[in-house]
Amino acid sequence: MTNIPLPLPFIERMQNLLGNEADTFLAALGRAALTGLRTNTLKLSAERLRALAPWSMTPTPWCPDGFVVSGREQPGKHPFHAAGLYYMQEPSAMAVAVALAPQPGELVLDLAAAPGGKATHLAALMYDWGIVVANEIETSRTSALSSNIERWGIRQAIITNAEPERLASQWGAIFDRVLLDAPCSGEGMFRKSATAIAMWRPEMVQGCALRQQRALDTAAALVRPGGMLCYSTCTFAPEENEQVIAAFLDTHRDFELAPTGIIGAAPACPDWLATPHNRSDLTLAARLWPHRTPGEGHFVALLQRAAGEAARLKPAAWKPAPQPALALWRDFVAATFTSDPFANTLLVAVGQQLYAIPEGAPHLDGLKVKRAGVCLGTIHPKRFEPAHSLALALQTSDLHNVATFDLAPDDERLDRYLQGHPLPEPGADGWMLLSVTGFPVSWGRRSRGIIKNVYPKGLRRPLR
Ligand code: SAM
Repeated sequence: MTNIPLPLPFIERMQNLLGNEADTFLAALGRAALTGLRTNTLKLSAERLRALAPWSMTPTPWCPDGFVVSGREQPGKHPFHAAGLYYMQEPSAMAVAVALAPQPGELVLDLAAAPGGKATHLAALMYDWGIVVANEIETSRTSALSSNIERWGIRQAIITNAEPERLASQWGAIFDRVLLDAPCSGEGMFRKSATAIAMWRPEMVQGCALRQQRALDTAAALVRPGGMLCYSTCTFAPEENEQVIAAFLDTHRDFELAPTGIIGAAPACPDWLATPHNRSDLTLAARLWPHRTPGEGHFVALLQRAAGEAARLKPAAWKPAPQPALALWRDFVAATFTSDPFANTLLVAVGQQLYAIPEGAPHLDGLKVKRAGVCLGTIHPKRFEPAHSLALALQTSDLHNVATFDLAPDDERLDRYLQGHPLPEPGADGWMLLSVTGFPVSWGRRSRGIIKNVYPKGLRRPLR
């Protein structure tokens, strides 16, 4: 909860729109924000997480893997978070990927992806099968996106850093599903961010609406005929929601609204258009209100493109890694795993880094690619050094040969390791995998009974 008063023009607008309901809505904005988390179903089931977690979790109505959490524990600082078992996400944001409903094997684009809440959800719903292209226009935000995708253990993602228009001209209408989680005036952030309140201006809403209109036009150009387009915001302003969708439908006759299927959502409101329109189909779009449902608030519209001829997908062309690099990887695999967890995957060298590349990606010529697939590690002249992303992409079933050091979440040795300290632990020299309750959390390198700390410096922090 913030102590800053809500802007008067915002209050007046919401009173005009909501009438009798405005008091309940404004009272809800005066309460504390909810904390939510979404299970990483690529690593464990929601039931298992619920059984393991030392905090109380109440399921969200619209996302079977998502929960509102309560209690004094801070899940974002727990070792399970470092192991990628869940994503801290406010509950209404979890409705978006569920509405888009990506299917395994599809080619899916998240056009405004950082920091990765929805991109990680899309990959989980696809069982990490198919491709998620997670694009972010702001270079400074791609590191957080990359780190979250790495923690999630996704193998089949590509992170690009491009203007949406560039992607549309390069790729055309090739994606089965496209998500535009648009930059917005952020009124749904008011409960948790004093900055969101301080920055809000009526003119900002107008500016966002124009930008959203343009971004939605571009997003539409990337959807294949018969494909789906999802538009979402975390704001309440009709200018950025119903009005954007109505203007889009007026100029894109080959798209129509489809039901979002979000359980517990209210219909969007055709009466909130700037000029009278006969757009009763807008009720198919959804609004999640903070005074009616457990969440901060979202708008979600799902649009389907009419059938037609698809653009031709030109696949990415990769040069396989040179033999010496592959030989070092194979030596590492033989010493570490019972079988190669990346068998039948194309391995590519980018500088000294070896990557396992997802199959079926569109061509990336000339694009800024932050990461493609999983970075397996670094090729040194005579040795292979595994990357953190490899540890997080492994399943417990991959870990037959490797020396593991499994710790309980409340073992203070784990806390110390995640803070960057070495650990004394007798055993053979070499690479080993540290895990929490069986879930890989980091590599360690044992030498003369000491596990040297290789947990990435950027992730180290005092936990609890
Ligand atoms: N989908 C993200 C998630 O779930 O974690 C949140 C996305 S946030 C609401 C909107 C994103 O759009 C920001 O990362 C912002 O940098 C990006 N953005 C800003 N201007 C943009 C534009 N003109 N086109 C596309 N994306 C833009």
